[in-house]
Formats: sequence, C-alpha cells, structure tokens
Amino acid sequence: AKAAGRGRVMLFEPSMEARIRDRWALMADLAHAAENGELELAYQPLLDTASRRTGGFEALLRWRHPSRGMIRPDEFIPLAEESGLIIAIGEWALRAALAEAAKWPEELSVAVNISTRQLAHAQFLDTIITALMDTCIDHRRLELEVTESALLSETNLPILTEINHLGVGIALDDFGTGYSSLSYLQRFQFSKLKIDRSFIRSVPADAKSKAIVRTVVDLARTLGMHVTAEGVETAEQFEWIAENCDQVQGYFIARPMSAAEIPAYLAFESDK
Ligand code: C2E
Ligand code: CA
Ligand code: CA
Ligand code: CA
Repeated sequence: AKAAGRGRVMLFEPSMEARIRDRWALMADLAHAAENGELELAYQPLLDTASRRTGGFEALLRWRHPSRGMIRPDEFIPLAEESGLIIAIGEWALRAALAEAAKWPEELSVAVNISTRQLAHAQFLDTIITALMDTCIDHRRLELEVTESALLSETNLPILTEINHLGVGIALDDFGTGYSSLSYLQRFQFSKLKIDRSFIRSVPADAKSKAIVRTVVDLARTLGMHVTAEGVETAEQFEWIAENCDQVQGYFIARPMSAAEIPAYLAFESDK
C-alpha cells in the first residue's frame, strides 16, 4: 500500500471500509425497524399567530435503535430513500400520524413529511386514500410537506394535484433553499410555504434576511398561500415573525414532543 501513493492508500483506509460496512449494517437494521416497533413520531406544534394557539403538529420520525440509541432522521432518511425502504417507512409514518391526530381536537391538523420516492411510487395516491379512510379523519386535517428536491420530476405534479383534490393540503417545505422554488410556484398551487430556518436565523438583526422574509410573505399572499416560519428560537425572532407569518414553528414555541405529551401541552395552552 505504501508504494501506491497517498491518494491510493486513502481508498483502502480501514476507517472508510468500516464506514461502508456500518452503512450496510444500519440499512439492514432499518429494514426491520418498523416491524420491530423501533420507529416513533415526535410532534412539534405549529402555532397560529392570529389566535396564538396551536393549529396543528408536524410529525417527525425518530428511530430508537436497540444498540445505537436514538438516530436522527437526517441520518437514516437518506438511507431509507436510497434503499427504497422509505416507501414502507413513509406509509408507516403517515398511518401513525393520522391515528394520533384522530385523538386530538378536531380543529388540529397534522403535517407529514413526504420524500421524492414516495411521490414517484405508483401506489402513493391509493396509500393516502386508504390511510384516510381507515382513520375516518377529515381529509382537510392532513397536510403533506414536500421539498423542492422531492418535486424535481415534472411527473410528480399531477399526483400532487390529485391529492390536493381530496382536500389534503400540500406545503412546500424548506422554501428558498432549492434551485427552482419560483418555477414550482408557477406550476402548482401549494396551500402553504414553509420559510426555511436559514432565513429566520438572522431575523430581525439582518436587514437582508428581513427583506427576503417580507418578500416571500408578500409573494405567498399574492398567490393565495399560507406562510409558516420554521426554526424560530428566540423571543426577538418570534416578535418580528409573528407579525408577518400565519404560523410559527420552532424551539421558542416548543421542541418536538412524544404523542403522550400532547394532551398536557394542549391543556396547558387552554389554561393560559
Ligand atoms: P424538516 O421537515 O425541515 O423538519 C424540521 C426540522 O427542524 C426537525 O428536525 C425539527 O426538529 C427541527 N427544528 C424545529 N424547530 C427548530 C428550531 O427552532 N431550531 C432548530 N435548530 N431546529 C428546529 P428533525 O426532526 O431532526 O428532522 C430533520 C429532517 O428529517 C426534517 O426536516 C425532514 O426533512 C426529515 N424528516 C423527518 N421526518 C420525516 C418523515 O416522516 N419522512 C420524511 N421523508 N422525512 C422526514
Ligand atoms: Ca417538514
Ligand atoms: Ca422544513
Ligand atoms: Ca429541513
């Protein structure tokens, strides 16, 4: 290996080999995570700024791995997408979120994140319809969050239209971070824009970020969409954002919580 030179030696670094083997091991575990009951959803409140009350919750996947502990979605969702496991995991998440929302007061909505591969899957519309029927929940209480990357293929837009016709809301997540945000707005009527945390982070100190947020809010209003600001962490951010957006989400309001914590959270809110 010495004679191969620095660049070549790198390829055979045991650490890299170990990392690849580790990825495979994790993927193999992920294949059984749902059936083993290792997947959970955490719920983060979406606060309506007009009423200052919770309008709904976003469901966020968690994987409680038997030996590695809690694994964040950023680490396993990409693996699930690559392997195709996201189809089964995504359906599990959708069903679990709807079953949970069925226990909440009727005016609360539930938002579920959807990946590219789910949208492209031939059975996706059926999956949504069956899951809604099985939980007997008002369709308008469900919202799907899709990212710009999830929409990359032009063929995904008709399926979104059909889902929208069921009464299900479609939110454009992480708005502003993709390459063609505006062209998606031209081609599809989203119910909501979620302004990415990266723009919220420097508000209200940074004039440029404020101008961007104001402009996005203006644009959303003109196009008939609601606006949610994500990643609101401080009182200063909240005060400025609350005047501009319909909904606020972030650690300042509440961190994602377990399903079991929701009743107490809502009871506390109605006592205020
Ligand atoms: P996302 O959809 O943009 O979700 C928001 C993320 O920001 C969540 O991270 C949430 O915990 C975090 N967050 C919320 N408020 C704050 C804040 O004030 N400050 C900071 N720093 N972070 C905040 P999480 O739960 O780790 O999820 C990461 C990403 O994983 C999600 O980003 C989403 O893209 C993906 N994901 C989560 N659940 C699912 C799922 O069921 N299906 C799919 N396809 N993707 C999912
Ligand atoms: Ca989301
Ligand atoms: Ca987001
Ligand atoms: Ca994100």
